[in-house]
Amino acid sequence: GEFTLEKVREYVWEMPQEGDMRVPARVLASEELLDEISDDLSLQQLKNTTHLPGIQQYALAMPDAHQGYGFPVGGVAGIDAETGVISPGAVGYDINCGVRMLKTNLTYSDIQGREEQLVDALFEAIPSGLGGGGVVQTDVDTLEEVLTRGVEWALDEGYAVEDDLAHCEDEGVRPGADPDAVSKKAKDRGRQQLGSLGSGNHFLEVQRVTDVYREDVAESFGLSEDQIVVLIHCGSRGLGHQVCTDYLRDIEQAHQGLLEQLPDKELAAAPAGSHLAEAYYGAMNAAINFAWVNRQLIMHRTREVFADVFDRDWRDMEMELLYDVAHNIAKKETHTIEGQDRELFVHRKGATRAFPAGHPEIPAAYRDVGQPVIIPGSMGAGSYVLRGGEHSMAETFGSTAHGAGRLMSRTEAKNTYWGEDVQDDLRDQEQIYVKAESGATVAEEAPGVYKDVDEVVRISDELGIGDRVARTFPVCNIKG
Ligand code: 5GP
Ligand code: MN
Ligand code: MN
Repeated sequence: GEFTLEKVREYVWEMPQEGDMRVPARVLASEELLDEISDDLSLQQLKNTTHLPGIQQYALAMPDAHQGYGFPVGGVAGIDAETGVISPGAVGYDINCGVRMLKTNLTYSDIQGREEQLVDALFEAIPSGLGGGGVVQTDVDTLEEVLTRGVEWALDEGYAVEDDLAHCEDEGVRPGADPDAVSKKAKDRGRQQLGSLGSGNHFLEVQRVTDVYREDVAESFGLSEDQIVVLIHCGSRGLGHQVCTDYLRDIEQAHQGLLEQLPDKELAAAPAGSHLAEAYYGAMNAAINFAWVNRQLIMHRTREVFADVFDRDWRDMEMELLYDVAHNIAKKETHTIEGQDRELFVHRKGATRAFPAGHPEIPAAYRDVGQPVIIPGSMGAGSYVLRGGEHSMAETFGSTAHGAGRLMSRTEAKNTYWGEDVQDDLRDQEQIYVKAESGATVAEEAPGVYKDVDEVVRISDELGIGDRVARTFPVCNIKG
């Protein structure tokens, strides 16, 4: 394309600093993935990001990057938390969209022949699609508690066990949440949606472990070949979306001067320390808690469904949470920049935190091995569990990819695939049972619309930012 990319070393490409760029930009990819990344607006968006005041080192695109709102999905930016800015577009509309993996002690043969029964029961019990109908009814007081206390609220209400908190990013409670900074409209949108998957790209997938790459780490994670696990992907529903909408509008209006200096209005940002930066951070943290509770309630329901279908207590089936990771988030973190410790707003949009062994923010259970990183592929491809790699702090502000990344737009997908055909092929050729609220969703999410997840994960592993631990493959999948 029209962008100069210099090869720094294998899989590392740099867009040199020029004009008003404050730092260079880097793309982490193989040539094959770089070609795909160059096909949409990702590189332009990445370059635009380097104009943000306070951005450190370089703006980064992970191997799964594709274009998004203002800032690429698969993008990472570390921005000084005292002299820089915070940007809602660099977090994304679905605040704390993320994935959690639930383990079991079942193996594939325990499920074979009962896939249809299981997928029907899950589809019946777990609300999906555009509407609400969440697992619980939440009034105003309950919602405030959810936004402030996250999974601790779920623990008090009997929707979680202590162990679930110990195996979640931030122990399931994001500090600094400010429910008063969340608009009434956002709260009203979220209230009836707690405990629901939502539509489109969100899913719950029963999977079997097909490969183990690092035996010792897999053992620490409690993963082994043939094991059944459940992957849950969803976010903060209408609540997070409305928080993003509200603050984009307010920030655009209040910080026009700054906006005029930026190459794209979609990068609207609030200066660190300003009222709106504080308010957005508080509201975003509240939305983060909402999303963690959302995934917790869905996991709780999943345990109940398994108990029902297999007629055993979920504890008997050792249905323990492996980990829950956010992939749309901005967090205040300390990073070492040119030998100095600095507080940064690390924006990860379609990117996963990947802290290596020894990092104090990893839960005790995984501190010696590195945090689990969960990377979904598609309903017809592998997904991966990685662990934070030893080079992530130096190379990527402690981050790696979040998925395979889209190759094809939703419109193009609907013109290319027919939902029922996709479902039939997956069942007949791969023994994958997909059940969805809408056929259009299946077409939009067909395996062919995504990049090659094996290649994305290979690059993460080769660069040492996230090391491959195990690969899974779908057994049944429910979607919005
Ligand atoms: P996003 O959060 O960007 O919407 O999606 C994250 C990733 O999930 C996508 O890049 C894609 O690789 C993956 N994905 C989308 N649908 C499915 C699915 O049904 N099953 C699995 N395992 N992965 C999926
Ligand atoms: Mn999402
Ligand atoms: Mn997501």
